[in-house]
Amino acid sequence: MSSTSILVIGSSNTDMVIKADTFPGPGETILGGQFFMFPGGKGANQAVAASRLGGDVTFIAKIGNDIFGKQALQQFKKEGIRTDFIVADAEHPSGVALITVDANGENTIVVAQGANGALTAEDVNKASSEFSRVAILLMQLEIPIDTVTHAARLAKQAGKKVILNPAPAAVLPEALFKDLHIITPNRSETETLTGVVIKDAASIETAAKRLKAKGVEHVIITLGSEGAYLYNDQGGRHIDTPTVKAVDTTAAGDVFNGALAVALAEQMTLDEAVAFANRAAAISVTKMGAQASAPYRKELMSIL
Ligand code: AMP
Repeated sequence: MSSTSILVIGSSNTDMVIKADTFPGPGETILGGQFFMFPGGKGANQAVAASRLGGDVTFIAKIGNDIFGKQALQQFKKEGIRTDFIVADAEHPSGVALITVDANGENTIVVAQGANGALTAEDVNKASSEFSRVAILLMQLEIPIDTVTHAARLAKQAGKKVILNPAPAAVLPEALFKDLHIITPNRSETETLTGVVIKDAASIETAAKRLKAKGVEHVIITLGSEGAYLYNDQGGRHIDTPTVKAVDTTAAGDVFNGALAVALAEQMTLDEAVAFANRAAAISVTKMGAQASAPYRKELMSIL
C-alpha cells in the first residue's frame, strides 16, 4: 500500500461561464461577452488538488456518455488520477453548471447535477478493493447522501480515515458523524450543521463542540483569510493561514481539503496537516479559477 493513497468520491462538472453587462430578466435574451469553459465539481477539484500535491489519488465519480464526460476523463488522466472506477452513465448527461458573471463580478449559477445524482452505493461497491488499499477517503455533498453514508461506513469498517467536506451546506443524518474522522465545514456550513451563528471566537468554539459531540473525532472549521479552527480531544486552537493578495477564492475550500488528505496520508500531525492545507489554499486564492488554481507540491515551498 502506498502511504499517500487517497480515495476521493464526489462530483465532476463542466462549468460554462459567460460574462455579461447585466443578468437577463425572465424571457429576455441578451448578448454577453467572453465565454469560458472549465472543469469543476467539488469532487473533481479536490481530487486534482490532492494529486498535484503528491497524493496517489483514485477518483470515483459518475459522468455522462457525452463530450463533457470524455473531456473530464481525459483531464483526470492528465492529472495522474486513477480513473478505473469512474462510471460513464448511459442514462444521464454529465453534470453542468451554467454561470453568468455580470459587470460587478456578481454571478448567478444553475447546476444540472446529471450523472452526479446517479452515483449509487452499488457503484461504490464496485471499487471495494480501493477501500482496503487507500489510507484516506475524502468526500463532499454533491452526490446522493445515501452514497456518502454508505461509503463512509465501508471506509470506517476497513479502518480508514474519512474526511467529509460538508459542502454545499446540508443537514446530515446523525449516524454519519460517527463514521467521520474529520469534518471540515466553512462558516455558513457550520451554521447549517449546528444552528450556531458564527460571529466570534466563542461561537466558533460552541459550534465545534456541538459537532464533536455528534461523534466526529476532529472538527476543522475553515475561516477564509483567518485560517482554520481545529477542535478535538486536545481542545481548540486557531491555525493561521499565510497573508496573501486574494484574487479569486473559488475552490479555496476544495484545495484545503485535497491538501489536508495528502498531509494526513503522509502521517503529518493534525496541526501540521491544517497548516499545510492553509498554505495550499492560500496559494490557490492568489490565482484565478478552480482546478487551475490548485498548486503543485513544489509551489508550497514558495510561501512562508
Ligand atoms: P473558506 O472556504 O473561505 O473558509 O476557505 C478555505 C481555506 O482557504 C481557509 O481555511 C484558508 O486556508 C484558505 N483561504 C481562503 N481565503 C483566504 C485568504 N483570503 N487568504 C489566505 N487564505 C485563504
